[in-house]
Amino acid sequence: FDQRDGEIWYDGAYVPWADAKVHVLTHGLHYASAVFEGERAYGGAIFKLEEHTDRLIESARVLGFSIPYSAEVINNACNDLLVRANLSDAYVRPISWRGSEMMGVSAQANTIHLAIAVWPWPSYFKPEERLKGIRLDIAEYCRPDPRTAPSKSKAAGLYMICTISKHAAEAKGYADALMLDWRGQVAEATGANVFFVKDGVIHTPKPDCFLDGITRRTVIGLAKARGIEVVERAIMPEEMASFEQCFLTGTAAEVTPVSEIGPYSFAVGDITKTLMEDYMAAVLPQEPAKVAAVG
Ligand code: PMP
Repeated sequence: FDQRDGEIWYDGAYVPWADAKVHVLTHGLHYASAVFEGERAYGGAIFKLEEHTDRLIESARVLGFSIPYSAEVINNACNDLLVRANLSDAYVRPISWRGSEMMGVSAQANTIHLAIAVWPWPSYFKPEERLKGIRLDIAEYCRPDPRTAPSKSKAAGLYMICTISKHAAEAKGYADALMLDWRGQVAEATGANVFFVKDGVIHTPKPDCFLDGITRRTVIGLAKARGIEVVERAIMPEEMASFEQCFLTGTAAEVTPVSEIGPYSFAVGDITKTLMEDYMAAVLPQEPAKVAAVG
């Protein structure tokens, strides 16, 4: 992935893709002092760019550092990169981290860096898998108590258990893993939020120890606009036996139907299909002028 053509916005400059490097003694690498975003451009416009940038800045604040660029600079950099790369449908990955001046748990004086990359990205899960619903295993690791980890931050360190869980699920032939939280309640997938449908009502866990995804909030809004009731509450895994439909939401996952979670199975029903369509309509740029306006 590090040997592509193109350029990466790196601390304010456009750097050739293969030259966008860090030193091995980078604090972010040793101590996970890094936060990132995952964004997606549709038709040349990054969906909810401002919300993603605000979350990036807030994620860093939660980890005790301040990104040395304003939201406006970051937004412009993301848009500019897209135009310079001549991409209209793409994934956008900003990442900020503590640099390499000091090596140790404390690194108060280390430079805070920011880099942004964009690349073309098709559907997260294979399209044919997606229409019949994907299969999830139940992860061994649990989402930690918010007193144990900064769960409101999209912090690199929190993804350690996600990668372990996703790899373990993939090794068993599953597409992803569902993670429970420290209380044993249903939490989320390794990179997406989870929703269930029963008797025409949507149920989804309260995001009190995992990311309240931007897609999650968008989809809740779309469901409510359709007059579908959405209940945010604690969900125990055994309850999955009574749910009829299940889907994941996320910038990368969009709205992805789920057919199985461990021993529980679900249909790809009307509410799921409707929200898949509504989401795809919502992400398209509302005004084509957006791209032209970017320097
Ligand atoms: N949970 C996790 C662990 C994620 O990585 C993501 C993707 N950022 C989400 C939920 C969904 O967030 P969003 O809809 O903002 O992409």
